[in-house]
Amino acid sequence: MECPLCGCQDFFVKNPDDEFETYEFSVASGHVRFNSETAAAPTPEVQESTETFCNKCSWHGAFQQLKKN
Ligand SMILES: [Zn+2]
Repeated sequence: MECPLCGCQDFFVKNPDDEFETYEFSVASGHVRFNSETAAAPTPEVQESTETFCNKCSWHGAFQQLKKN
């Protein structure tokens, strides 16, 4: 999976309760893998409809809109 705009595989989601709290993850393996720093804390569940933000460009949208390789 990758960003439809830039092809990046690094994304983040926001904490539903605190939009300034973000959780970075990679989809390079085809699965959501939070980075090790983030994984130490409770992480939000990423669902098909979860708003996802690209780490490299301005793209954001539902997780299910990520382009599938
Ligand atoms: Zn992007």
